[in-house]
Amino acid sequence: MFGWTGVFLQVDLTKNKAVAESYDANLALNFIGGRGFAAKILWDNLKPEIDPLSPENKLIFAAGPLTGFGLTNSGKLVVASKSPLTGGYGDGNIGTWAAVQMRKAGYDAVIIEGKAETPVVLHIRNKVAEFIDAKDFWGLNSFETEAQLKALYERTAGIISIGPAGENLVKFATVVSQEGRAGGRPGMGAVMGSKNLKAVVFEGNNDIPAAYPNDMKELSAAGYREILTKPNYAFWKRQGTISTVEWSQENSTLPTFNFREGVFDKADKIGGFAMEKIKVGNRGCPQCNMTCGNVVKDSDRREAELDYENIVMLGSNIGLGNLKQVAALNRVSDELGLDTISLGNVLGFAMETSQKRLIPEEIPWGKFKETKALINDIAYRRGFGDVLADGVQAAAAKIDPGSSDWAMHVKGLEITAYDCHAAPAMALAYATSSIGAHHKDAWVISWEVQFGRESYVEEKINKVIELQRLRGGVFESLTVCRFPYAELAFELEWYTKYLRAATGREMPFKALIYAADKILNLIRAFWIREYASKWTREMDSPPMRWFKDPLTEGPMKGAMLDPVKYNNMLKKYYKKRGWDEKGIPTKSTLKKLGLSDVAKQLEKYIKLTE
Ligand code: SF4
Repeated sequence: MFGWTGVFLQVDLTKNKAVAESYDANLALNFIGGRGFAAKILWDNLKPEIDPLSPENKLIFAAGPLTGFGLTNSGKLVVASKSPLTGGYGDGNIGTWAAVQMRKAGYDAVIIEGKAETPVVLHIRNKVAEFIDAKDFWGLNSFETEAQLKALYERTAGIISIGPAGENLVKFATVVSQEGRAGGRPGMGAVMGSKNLKAVVFEGNNDIPAAYPNDMKELSAAGYREILTKPNYAFWKRQGTISTVEWSQENSTLPTFNFREGVFDKADKIGGFAMEKIKVGNRGCPQCNMTCGNVVKDSDRREAELDYENIVMLGSNIGLGNLKQVAALNRVSDELGLDTISLGNVLGFAMETSQKRLIPEEIPWGKFKETKALINDIAYRRGFGDVLADGVQAAAAKIDPGSSDWAMHVKGLEITAYDCHAAPAMALAYATSSIGAHHKDAWVISWEVQFGRESYVEEKINKVIELQRLRGGVFESLTVCRFPYAELAFELEWYTKYLRAATGREMPFKALIYAADKILNLIRAFWIREYASKWTREMDSPPMRWFKDPLTEGPMKGAMLDPVKYNNMLKKYYKKRGWDEKGIPTKSTLKKLGLSDVAKQLEKYIKLTE
């Protein structure tokens, strides 16, 4: 095989065993890599209804066929597992040298099951895997862990670790790499912690076989240069995703006070231009020339890496309008290994619930020191922090069922940083994303704002599906960054050219979209198999707040979603996806996608329509 290494590493932590296994080329052609591989492996090998935090669960690191060749924006892998937060399919992508090193070590994916008796670090160097005693690392934060491991291995080693949040099984703990790159929002850090796995160190020095190595080199250099010519490049380098704060404020989509409002009176203090005043540098994923991590000095005089999501969720959403303090909260969260998006949600929820006096704890809006203390309590599961550590859905159920109206999640995964009171297409995108509420599959909001806000028309459904297939299917499986396409209009043809040079195969975009649809339907089947008779179409519903509490401020004052129109939109969406009225793929849809075996298996758990 060219492009793919053709090998997975199967690791059993209970038995201290690692075995390299070749896989069939058809798997690569059908499922591409990254998310596609993860979905297929979890579907084929996980027994339904297992406890996600049990040794039976599998933690997968998987990359696509372009990673490791030095192409810009391709230094990523997907980390996936059954999610302890949602009970469904969970994954996230992370930009890390570990992705490059894993592929150079000879693996397209590393699949980890079992549980080590005592904490370990898994060290993979080419064909050799070692299980290293990690008692001295357990308890360290993710930055300390990586720094200490770096001292032991070569400078080029790629390291992924967890912080105390993962060790303490916080259900929205992430994995972390390179001081601030985090991935696996739906609790992949907790799955890693449940296996007593503190870190994985990847070292590889093999060449990944390319079908046309010279073409690969030329294309790599040309693609790199092409990005530099894009009109928005210079401004992107200045602010990265953070300019979206001003855009969101202007368009009333800036989550504020637990998504109660879409505008924040201190937005200018946490936006892109405020950030530029305290910026000290750029960081990014390996081999990327768009490096979008903006490094600032925080209020604790330490360096913190910022982007739009973490600024909003730890800023306006909790009523904090001091960027240096937001940065300090972000740095602490990365060290602890907490997902900053889910964290901003549970904090906002706690603040609102406290204000409504449904809990005895005093949790004021926008107070730096108190919030920092609560973040630590969540990571260490102390006091009320222990309640929040299970995520906003579980916290609402425990505190007062009525509070679920302002618990901002879909299927248990907390909403990312776009308010949708006046954005039905974005609400649909959240509600039908593959992992629970996330914008990575279909970031449709900027298109929707231009198109027209409050309608529920067919074009919006089509756009959501188009983006889900492209971003959630193709990009997540190729493990390439979506920003060149989304932010700089980098042409999609580049990826088919890259793929030809890497794999030697002509893979037109049409074929990639077909594979993407297959992958997304397989993920859907995974959810349905897990929930079986408990599955309802309400699981594809955005949070109640957007239907019940109209905005009281800003240009979209009075706006909220219409439940009848939303439900009609969802119905049409299902039809276009080839799903039944409950959102379950029909037999003929699965058959068309080459997933007849999946249909057969699924029928053991739930009746499928023809
Ligand atoms: S643009 Fe940002 S997220 Fe994308 S690869 Fe570069 S640094 Fe990573």
